[in-house]
Amino acid sequence: MNKQFSNDDWDRLRGIAEELRRNDHGFWRDFKEKGIPALMGWLYYRGKCVYCGEELVRPGQLIGGATKTDHLLSISKSPNIGFSSHFNAVPACAGCNSIKAVWDRKRKPSDCPDGVLTQEIHDRLVAEARDVIKRERAEADAGFESERTNWMKALEQRDALENQPGVGTGA
Ligand SMILES: [Zn+2]
Repeated sequence: MNKQFSNDDWDRLRGIAEELRRNDHGFWRDFKEKGIPALMGWLYYRGKCVYCGEELVRPGQLIGGATKTDHLLSISKSPNIGFSSHFNAVPACAGCNSIKAVWDRKRKPSDCPDGVLTQEIHDRLVAEARDVIKRERAEADAGFESERTNWMKALEQRDALENQPGVGTGA
């Protein structure tokens, strides 16, 4: 669990984010569009997926959609917040982001009725989403052994195709 930041801490974090974005190339350039509050969200969670803890700032992760900045309150349900608040922008891996998107669609639009996202609402939503994502993964993994058995069998059949005598390579 992250230490709660005071308003002063958030102000300082904003300065750190502005300094980081000044490196006008690579991944952080992206935050020209997303904005400083989104980058503050990344810094607050130290660049780890807020839902599963995966380290996102590492080779192989920064392009191609592997990392996302998730709208904690989705754009469709809370279109006015977007990334204007650092409480609404969280780093997420593509997998968690997509499970969360399904959950977002099922929820009622009453998470933040007056449109002001506080630390308290933020913490509650993050905790709820973590639980949902963990549960979804556990359910999928519960069936994994039989999935693997089926997969191994299919691979054997596939490899048998290659080992058939007399089938040319097309050359
Ligand atoms: Zn994740």
